[in-house]
Amino acid sequence: MVRKICEVCSTNESNYKCPTCFLPFCSVACSRVHKQTQCEPARPKENSRPKGPVEEDEDDEDRVILSDNALRTIGLNEDIKRLVSQKRFRDALLTVDGAKDRRKALELLMADPEFVVLADLLLEQIDFSDP
Ligand SMILES: [Zn+2]
Ligand SMILES: [Zn+2]
Repeated sequence: MVRKICEVCSTNESNYKCPTCFLPFCSVACSRVHKQTQCEPARPKENSRPKGPVEEDEDDEDRVILSDNALRTIGLNEDIKRLVSQKRFRDALLTVDGAKDRRKALELLMADPEFVVLADLLLEQIDFSDP
């Protein structure tokens, strides 16, 4: 660690620091001189770190069923259109989409046999392979 030079006399190495402004000084004598300047407390440095940890994006795997692309594809399928036009299915999809745990929400919906049919149709429409 490089020693700082006393900022009071600018001659000697500093062995101490002002407890208020952290100005380095070398001796009691210089400390006294410094104290006459009525120093101000050192300002805390601006925090340049980003605020908090960035929240991870929701799992894309869960989202794929309701992604924009998927919904566009789904819109082209008459069977799905018919099913999705029913309010209960729209609500169900919204429930899944808004759920904290989409996978869990989807699993719960799978208890409804009609929803399983819809889910199957949806999954048929979603192409997981490259175009
Ligand atoms: Zn000094
Ligand atoms: Zn000071």
